[in-house]
Amino acid sequence: MNRISNRFAARWAACVLALALVATPLATFAQTQIKYHSNRYSTSDDVKVGRQAAAEAEQQFPLLRDSEVQSYVESVGQRLVAAIPPEFQHPEFRYYFRVINASDINAFALPGGPMYVNRGMIQAAHSEGEMAGVMAHELSHVALRHGTAQATKAQKYGLLAGIAGIAGSVLGGGGLGQLAAGSVGVYFLKFSREYETEADLLGARIMANAGYDPRELANMFQTIQQQGGGGGGGFLSDHPSPANRYQRINQEAQYLQVRNVQRDNRQFIAVNERLRSYPRAQTMAEIQRSGRRYPNQGDRNPNQGDPYPNGDRTGNPSPPSGRVDYPSSRFRNYSVLNLAQVSVPENWREDSDSSNSIWFAPSGGYGSTNGQSVFTHGVNFGVAQTNSRNLQQATNELINSLQQGNGNLRSRTGYQQTTIDGRSALAIGLNNVNEATGRQEIVSVVTTQLRNGELLYMIAVAPNDDFANYQNVFQNILRSVRMTD
Ligand SMILES: [Zn+2]
Repeated sequence: MNRISNRFAARWAACVLALALVATPLATFAQTQIKYHSNRYSTSDDVKVGRQAAAEAEQQFPLLRDSEVQSYVESVGQRLVAAIPPEFQHPEFRYYFRVINASDINAFALPGGPMYVNRGMIQAAHSEGEMAGVMAHELSHVALRHGTAQATKAQKYGLLAGIAGIAGSVLGGGGLGQLAAGSVGVYFLKFSREYETEADLLGARIMANAGYDPRELANMFQTIQQQGGGGGGGFLSDHPSPANRYQRINQEAQYLQVRNVQRDNRQFIAVNERLRSYPRAQTMAEIQRSGRRYPNQGDRNPNQGDPYPNGDRTGNPSPPSGRVDYPSSRFRNYSVLNLAQVSVPENWREDSDSSNSIWFAPSGGYGSTNGQSVFTHGVNFGVAQTNSRNLQQATNELINSLQQGNGNLRSRTGYQQTTIDGRSALAIGLNNVNEATGRQEIVSVVTTQLRNGELLYMIAVAPNDDFANYQNVFQNILRSVRMTD
């Protein structure tokens, strides 16, 4: 009896083991394998054409100038970017996220990383997860390099002359207007059903890694359909539905483990409340038909608030009053030129005087004199192209150029070694006399190097008699910096 039952147990164990051997690889590989398509372009080609197309897109469509909405979408986007599986990451891609003030339920991403989410898409979504679903899908097209893969294919059939031709066919003629019109030539934006399936599956994986239920991606496609986004110019005309899209995503979701679940919809709800308070947005087609261009928003940061809080907006800004509220102890996150994330006091605002420089300052702490931005309180982040790749020499060059623009600027300390987000950095203290107010002020400059060798700097400024109140704030801002270049 014992023997038999032992033998039975042994056989049973062997059977279970065999099952396990079969079952384990099944469970592991049940996730659909996704591979790159053949692509004759380099990843830097993706970056290049994406950048050109982004510049064109930003002239054709109005960006929503609301820093709260913008930084929220950016933060969701960056969470998704961090969740891209390693085999589909490209260090040279620079992902950033902007909101277009258009009512269509749509979003598009360009090769190399720029992504545009329509206000209508955010307002149509029922939850942050649904919004993130569309973004994860778009991100997947970029990570899988579908734009240039599709161009490779087109070229094989003699449809296109080369990468320049592709950029031309996207940008020339109707340009991205073709996006709104849903017309031909949009090789980067309109994909085959095969690519759509891949973007759904990788999107689901990114969702799970980022802590979202991947089924929310499937739900969003239903939401889009229900709200009529399937029609001409809508998301589903740029992203045609493969067969059983909804079921396929949900099936894939069974094999995915959701990490660090995000269930907080409060920010999403708050952002939607803000969006509802704005006047109705035009559709992309209406924007196209109006023929209006937006030539100045591309070289300004879309995150900015009112650049002239103390002046009239018709081009007659006033100098900073220098009277400012004490910095809030609550901080808010911003993206710095898509190179870093930073937290600054909630009652400070964002302003940008060029594509390479961004300010955070309290109301009254900035304004304009003789056509130049002038700050009495706040921090400025910027990128300097220097001749030297040596941090010390590059910083010297920066300080010299600052002194050329500020005749009263004198160093008060030597260089001190420090770090920004773990990277070696240099700090120097300077004295200045503010050109607008005539007040003595203290200027602190901290520099570090970007991966591409350019110099990232933070300049903090406060009047001498106020400096004690600001020193800790500046320290906290510096410590909050997270590099994303
Ligand atoms: Zn798609």
